[in-house]
Amino acid sequence: MRADTAEVEVPVKLDDLVPVKLPDDARAILPEEVILERGARSALPAAVKRHIGGAPLVVGDPDTLAAAGPLDLPHRLLDLGPHPHADDATVARVRAARGDTPGYVAVGSGTINDLCKRAAELDGVPFVALGTAASMNGYASGIAAILSDGLKTTVPSRPARAVILDTDILAAAPARLAQAGLGDLLSKPVSDSDWWLADQLEGTGYSALPGRVVDRAVDAAAAAASGLAARAPAAHGRLGEALTLSGVAMVVAGSSAPASGGEHLLSHLWDMEAIAAGRETRLHGAQVGVTTLISAALYAALVELEAPDLTAPPPWPEEAARIRREFGGLAEAILPQAKRKHARAGDRLDILRDRWEELRARLAGRAIPSPESLRATLKAAGAPSTLADLGESRVNAARVFRLARDIRDRVTVLDVAFEVGLLPGGIEAVLDRAGV
Ligand SMILES: [Zn+2]
Repeated sequence: MRADTAEVEVPVKLDDLVPVKLPDDARAILPEEVILERGARSALPAAVKRHIGGAPLVVGDPDTLAAAGPLDLPHRLLDLGPHPHADDATVARVRAARGDTPGYVAVGSGTINDLCKRAAELDGVPFVALGTAASMNGYASGIAAILSDGLKTTVPSRPARAVILDTDILAAAPARLAQAGLGDLLSKPVSDSDWWLADQLEGTGYSALPGRVVDRAVDAAAAAASGLAARAPAAHGRLGEALTLSGVAMVVAGSSAPASGGEHLLSHLWDMEAIAAGRETRLHGAQVGVTTLISAALYAALVELEAPDLTAPPPWPEEAARIRREFGGLAEAILPQAKRKHARAGDRLDILRDRWEELRARLAGRAIPSPESLRATLKAAGAPSTLADLGESRVNAARVFRLARDIRDRVTVLDVAFEVGLLPGGIEAVLDRAGV
C-alpha cells in the first residue's frame, strides 16, 4: 500500500505502482522491478547482480556520474563527456566500449538512458537504469529516441530490467530537470487526444487502458508541482512515479502515441534544427510543456469550429517542392514521412466532411485542460511556460508551428487543424490563445 501523506516515503515496486492489471505481452517487456524511494541507490549492486550478473559497463556523463556519487559496484566506466547526444554515432561508441562486459548500467536521465536502451537492444544484453533526474518518461518505455541522419526517430528497444529512482538524488538534481519532467508529463491529455483523433480518422487503434495506467499519477504529480520548486523528495517521488507509469502506458499501447502527439513534433523540430545548425538543444520536457499549451489552445479552437473549411493539400510534387524549400538540408529525411501522410489526406478529408459535428462533440467531451490551467501547474513548479522562458522567438515558433506536422508520418491535431482550415491562417490567434 502506498501512504497518501506526502511526508511518508515507502518503497515502491512496479506492481505497487500500476493501478490496473497489465496484459501479459506488456509485462514481458516492462522492467521487472522499479525501485522508487529515498536511498534507492543502495539497491543498485543487488539489482545488477540479479539482472546482469557480472561487472557491467557504467555509462554516464560528468554531471550524471557526480549526481549518482560513488557506485559500490565492480564495473568498467564510460564517461561520455559533457552534453552527449542520443544519436547513432554515440550508440556505436557505447557498444564498442562494452567489450566483454555482460550489460550496461545507465547512470543519467533521458540521453544516457536512451543510449543504453538502444545499445542493449542491439547487443541483446540487459541493462539497469539508475535515474539521476525526473526529467522524462523513458525509464520504463519500450522505445528509444535516437537521432538518425538528422531525423529524430523513436526505435523499439526494451527498457531497463530494473529502474532505480532515488528520490534524494532526484530532488538534488538541477530544478530545471524536474520542471522539464513535469512539462513532458502534462502533454498527456493532448497527446492522448491526438492518438484518439488519429484512430477516428485512420483506424490506427486506440485504447483507454494506457490512460488508466497513468491518469491518476499525472494528477498527483501535478498537485505536487509546488514541491518540485521546494526540492521536496516526496514531490519528486510523485513525479518519478508518474513518469515511470507514462513509460508503462507507452508499452501497453505498443507505441509512443499516448504520450507523444503534435506538441512533441514542435519540440522535435526545434531539436532537429538546433542540431543541424550546431546549436545546443534545450530540455525536451521544457519545450513540451510550452508546446502543450499551444496544442491545448488548438483543441479549444477546434471544439468551437462549427463550419470547417475543408482544405485538400496541394498535389504531392508541389508539397515536395515546398518541403525542400523550407527544410533545406533536413528535407531528404523528412520527405518520406510527409509523403506517406499526404497520400492519405483524401481519406481523412472524407471523414472530416462526414463526421465533423460528431468528432467536435466527442472532443469537447474529452475535457482537455485549458491553457490557463496547464500554465498554472507549470508556474507552480517554476517551469517554463512561455516562448520567452525558453529563449525562443515568436516568429520562429510560428514557423515551427506551421512546419512541424511534416516531420512525422503520424496524424496529430496539427494535421487536423490544417485540414479543417484553421491553420495556417490561425497560427497567430492560436499562439495568443495559448498565452505563450
Ligand atoms: Zn516527451
